[in-house]
Amino acid sequence: MTCCPACGGPDPAPRGGLLECGDCGLVFTPVFSVSPAVYAPGLEEGIYDGAKAALFSEALDILGAAFPRRGRLLDIGCASGGLMKSAAARGWEVSGVELDAALADKAEAAGFEVSRRPVEEAGLPPGTYDAATVFEVFSQMEKPGAASAEIFRLLKPGGRIYAREFNAGFHLALRRIEMSGLFRPFGAYPSVLHDRNFRAAALRIMLERAGFRNIRIRNSRPTAGDPYRTGGRLGGLLTAAIKVLYYYMAQAVWLASFGRIYAGSALIVTAEK
Ligand SMILES: [Zn+2]
Repeated sequence: MTCCPACGGPDPAPRGGLLECGDCGLVFTPVFSVSPAVYAPGLEEGIYDGAKAALFSEALDILGAAFPRRGRLLDIGCASGGLMKSAAARGWEVSGVELDAALADKAEAAGFEVSRRPVEEAGLPPGTYDAATVFEVFSQMEKPGAASAEIFRLLKPGGRIYAREFNAGFHLALRRIEMSGLFRPFGAYPSVLHDRNFRAAALRIMLERAGFRNIRIRNSRPTAGDPYRTGGRLGGLLTAAIKVLYYYMAQAVWLASFGRIYAGSALIVTAEK
């Protein structure tokens, strides 16, 4: 029997080749595939450093307001160190976790300490960190529930987690539209599915079970431009414009539903220990 890797729910139901947890709504692959994301050559730097710079900056603004004197920050899934560089420049003492050896090498070459084991197996010192950042990594973890519990343990009392994650509510709906062939003339494949696909409820329940409080979830702004080249012949500028327009529409839906419906393509979740 397969249990939900986010909340431990015992009885997931089949859903189009995937499994769906009846307790938290996580949609996940029956067998975890360890393969990391593989992007076309040269896209990596654009994704990790360029397109996400504004999102990193927003995260550091929020964490900086909570910790005006800074402190220790752990970036889980730190890639080549884009967020760590920005955080260090703002006075944080930073270290990271990265399973991809080539990316971890780059981050270390930039001067950062990087653990190469899953965070729940890394043996990092508990009660040490003021902040933990998790950018689109829960979706790629084998055991995101165990990782959340470990992140809770690693934080000091009052410590904060700041995570950005793809919104499965959006991407599963988009995948259904793709399957209908609507986007085919444009060569566009905008839906993004991973091993673990989180709706807002799955993120909330997973963090609650880990012990976090004051869990807040909102739609994220999109990445700048079209770094993943999912827009095909629509091109970078038009894809970027559609993404921004869609973000404002998702915000309108969120407001109109009194914060119940998250239509954004990605979510930001913050919580406290
Ligand atoms: Zn679950």
